[in-house]
Amino acid sequence: MTEPDPLFVSLRPRFFDGQGIFLSLLFDECQSPSFLRKQESKSCSHLGFVCRLIIVVAFSVRCCYSAPPFNECPGICPMRQPLVAGNWKMNGSRDSINHLLDGILAGIGSVKKSEVAVCVPYVYLQQVCDRLTGTAVAWGAQNINDHDSGAYTGEISGSMLKDFGCRYVIVGHSERRTLYGESEQDVAVRFKAALAHGLVPVLCVGELLQERDRGMTNEVVTRQLDAVIEDVGIDAIGRCVIAYEPVWAIGTGKVATPMQAQEVHAMIRARLAGLSEDVAARVRILYGGSMKPANAGELIRMDDIDGGLIGGASLKAKDFLEICAAAG
Ligand code: PEP
Repeated sequence: MTEPDPLFVSLRPRFFDGQGIFLSLLFDECQSPSFLRKQESKSCSHLGFVCRLIIVVAFSVRCCYSAPPFNECPGICPMRQPLVAGNWKMNGSRDSINHLLDGILAGIGSVKKSEVAVCVPYVYLQQVCDRLTGTAVAWGAQNINDHDSGAYTGEISGSMLKDFGCRYVIVGHSERRTLYGESEQDVAVRFKAALAHGLVPVLCVGELLQERDRGMTNEVVTRQLDAVIEDVGIDAIGRCVIAYEPVWAIGTGKVATPMQAQEVHAMIRARLAGLSEDVAARVRILYGGSMKPANAGELIRMDDIDGGLIGGASLKAKDFLEICAAAG
């Protein structure tokens, strides 16, 4: 009996998730493109062959343009899908979050290309998990402890975050670095813990205003990035999202110009390319810092900006959705 192509088989469950039983029956009959070719001369009619060919082409296109699981297909499509992630910080109540989620879910259907996520306070993870399971919106947390369990009062581990269905976790946010003294080493171990638990770390890097004024932006950002790369290796960077967040732009209403942001994003990508062209081409680099509907489009249109990490504007469904729409 002919074995189906292993790659094709590994992709099939996801394909069936989206396409339904009818297509599943078609593919069960002709297990893979190579099997399909062999069988075509024997039993498949011309019409059947054409139908299956259309499905294979449609499947490939969907891999490139559709929701996150399809873009994870290794080697299928290196294109970077934009990501817009909300960082709710320490905001919200049960009621306000229900209201916010109502608004986001009502409008999410019009977001065609971007992946959308919200990073929420720990205590609301259950609520968010209940409301967002089965929707197009992913969720995550805003920090993670590097230990898996034990006597770490007040801390939350990666396995706990997985328990609540988190996909993302922010690490190294400037508020954690500056207000809570998280060092570069702390950020690296948290990053490593996230990966170890199958979470996608959103690694925040960015310079203070005085560092920018002294022309130290690239040096600071490179140092923050290198501290993680040295610990986890370049391949692990291919499994994360990087967020360039100039500290002077966070929550201040001052936004980096598209050129200022693009310069740093390009520098980050070039730095990664020096270690791995493949990782540099794949990794998504978000901009964060007072991104709003009015400035999102021109920022996200820059070559190396693959979306946004959104603080204040992610607390209003209308603004958040407009930013998502600006990302595609
Ligand atoms: C942030 O906290 O990551 C952020 C970008 O905040 P804001 O959009 O409010 O500047």
